[in-house]
Amino acid sequence: MSGFISFINIITGIMFILAIRGLSSPQTARQGNLIGIFGMIIAIITTLFSQQVNDKVYPLIITLFGGGVGIYIALKTKMTSLPQTIAIFNGLGGLSAVFIALASIISGSTSYLDNSIGIIIGGIAFSGSMIAFAKLQGIISSQITKFNHQHLLNLILTFCILSLLFIFIISHNPIIFYILGISTIILGILLVLPIGGADMPVIISILNSYSGWAAVGIGFSLNNVLLIIVGSIVGASGSILSYIMVKSMNRSLLNVITGGLSDFDRLQSNEAETKIAKPANARDAAFIMENANKIIIVPGYGMAVAQAQYVLKEMAEILQNKYHVEVKYAIHPVAGRMPGHMNVLLAEANVPYEDVFTLDDINREFITTDVAYVIGANDITNPLAKTDISSPIYGMPVLDVEKSKTIFFVKRSLANGYSGIENPLFFAENTLMLYGDAKQITEQIVTNLEND
Ligand code: NDP
Repeated sequence: MSGFISFINIITGIMFILAIRGLSSPQTARQGNLIGIFGMIIAIITTLFSQQVNDKVYPLIITLFGGGVGIYIALKTKMTSLPQTIAIFNGLGGLSAVFIALASIISGSTSYLDNSIGIIIGGIAFSGSMIAFAKLQGIISSQITKFNHQHLLNLILTFCILSLLFIFIISHNPIIFYILGISTIILGILLVLPIGGADMPVIISILNSYSGWAAVGIGFSLNNVLLIIVGSIVGASGSILSYIMVKSMNRSLLNVITGGLSDFDRLQSNEAETKIAKPANARDAAFIMENANKIIIVPGYGMAVAQAQYVLKEMAEILQNKYHVEVKYAIHPVAGRMPGHMNVLLAEANVPYEDVFTLDDINREFITTDVAYVIGANDITNPLAKTDISSPIYGMPVLDVEKSKTIFFVKRSLANGYSGIENPLFFAENTLMLYGDAKQITEQIVTNLEND
């Protein structure tokens, strides 16, 4: 029986690898997701029937209940709230590692090091994710939260945790283990609390990786091969994703984690009051766009909120087919509220993949572009990232929309983006503001384009 279970575990592990591979492209993402779901069902059934699980009924009820809650949340969650949903699920992964480690030590396990790794990484993943969730959900401020000596405090706490780990491994005293757990939970809170909204995607990805490594630790303590395989996949893919994101934002991991060090103060300058942004209407926009040769659409979070992707595609098609304008879409790596957010929405509206370009592929084209149609995007176009060394987004690559002849910003006001920084492009010579809801403004442009 155990040989058969090992064989199934390897098959399941391969399915999870195929699932991750599928998720790496919008064309294969659905298929990858289905393989992952199927693999997880097999993993749960195999675990239930393994010798390690004596009482089958109780775990089955709990699994069905948890699965039901998961399906309900997945169906109810709006696309724009996915990052906080991911954060909370990461946190639950960390919390289960904490509970398993506790149960394991209480029931007399001698895997002191494995359980300690599980509780340390799981505890940080749990409390850090809860803070990330609260920030993304707007329960607490998403701004950089500074307090005196925060880095010194974190350093002291880390030293205490390592000392407690050492003492526990030598003494095997469960009280030390409990203190270790509490300390890691406090460290998780202190680590994520100072980090600003602009760095949240990276933090979520790091915490995701932590929850994977916590599962590996627990997998070793329970001698559960599948948990080790799955934990390694989650841990490694989360680490790779964090690296890719940090690289694409031109940051270092240390710089993100110590984000609270930034001395940047909000640009609530008096200057803003004297600057003037030029408003335009849908009629003006339609006229300029139908006479353009080339347009680049830059979608952001506001497009997702307004669900404007369908009408946006309609606008692009009219421009292409009726007015023979070249239309392309530019996707910034952190546009929206999660990696790939815009790609998913555009794919949902059946925007052809060949019209969608990454930042690296399209940035040099703005100089030959007549119109940049920036719809519900802000930070990802902010040129301060290139010029203002004190800005929290300094160094993050941005879409060079200012190089186009005309920029349209479709948004409801001059409000700042997620990172809380004013965008000087609103006041640029070649910018026209289209104030209003992204979907409604684009619908009005479509009506004008159809009637012209
Ligand atoms: P931003 O948050 O910078 O800007 C979005 C803009 O959309 C806002 O300024 C808002 O302006 C506007 N908006 C909101 N609702 C509507 C609406 N209904 N119609 C029209 N406009 C609307 O988003 P970007 O996509 O430009 O940048 C993403 C930001 O989010 C970055 O700072 C990134 O670091 C951060 N982030 C990214 C994550 C990711 O993984 N992609 C995860 C977490 C954070 P107004 O209120 O005036 O309408």
